[in-house]
Amino acid sequence: MQDVEALRAQLLAAAREARHDAYAPYSGYAVGAVVCDEEGRVFSGANVENASYGLTMCAERVALFRAVSEGVRRIVAVAVVTRDGAPPCGACRQVLAEFADEETLIWCASEENGQVEEYRLGELLPFAFRLRTQSSSEEEFALGGM
Ligand code: ZN
Repeated sequence: MQDVEALRAQLLAAAREARHDAYAPYSGYAVGAVVCDEEGRVFSGANVENASYGLTMCAERVALFRAVSEGVRRIVAVAVVTRDGAPPCGACRQVLAEFADEETLIWCASEENGQVEEYRLGELLPFAFRLRTQSSSEEEFALGGM
């Protein structure tokens, strides 16, 4: 992995850019997020709200799902940019935990004051739920148990 400071700057810039595409007419709370895999590939996302509020999707999950649907199975860093630097919601923390470990870095930047907080996923979500199946083969699992 490249220098952590350089990675942080790169990911926060990308998250800031992604935030411009947020669709948040109801809350007005625009979020941009990116995830980065072990090879340095970066996937971005913005929050997408819906008139039926419960269908709203967070920027973090949009970014992660883009990565996973491109074949990524392990992420090493996440960057989120919001108005006030809020960390990912509880649902996103659990979804991130599926493809990350306790050491995965999460940078959260505030557009209001430029402050950046650094967290590890294990701090934000201790005791993440992990389902252990009888089949330990991830490949087998991905093929629907075939
Ligand atoms: Zn969320």
